[in-house]
Amino acid sequence: MAYFIGQGYSDGFTAHMAELLDGLHPGRLVCLTVGTDEVCTACPNNSGGVCCKPAQVAGYDRGVLAACGLSEGAVLPFGRFTALVQERILGIGKRRLICGSCQWDGLCSSQPSRWAACCGPTKEWHPFIEN
Ligand code: SF4
Repeated sequence: MAYFIGQGYSDGFTAHMAELLDGLHPGRLVCLTVGTDEVCTACPNNSGGVCCKPAQVAGYDRGVLAACGLSEGAVLPFGRFTALVQERILGIGKRRLICGSCQWDGLCSSQPSRWAACCGPTKEWHPFIEN
């Protein structure tokens, strides 16, 4: 999500992702899952709610949860989640340790995170990071 620029698994997937990102304002509550989720609903790799590469994706998801100090099923404002991801993974160069084996790694490596501007090097001023 942090690096989405209109490319993805299919036209339907990219359209859905763009719509999803548009609606995910910082205060909106999200529930974190390791299984298929809202992003997956328009993915051609999703067959009846089962991803074609569940172990790989679950590994990425668990890596993000662990780095952020969160658990599956956590419910929090989207802005707090993105701030944690930016501060604890993306902003300190840890992304490739978690999902560097993904087919989209080159795309994500070639540009800044869309959340970089909202989360500075310190967490004092970001409303969704607790001091
Ligand atoms: S986790 Fe699987 S089903 Fe969901 S978006 Fe990624 S590839 Fe598609």
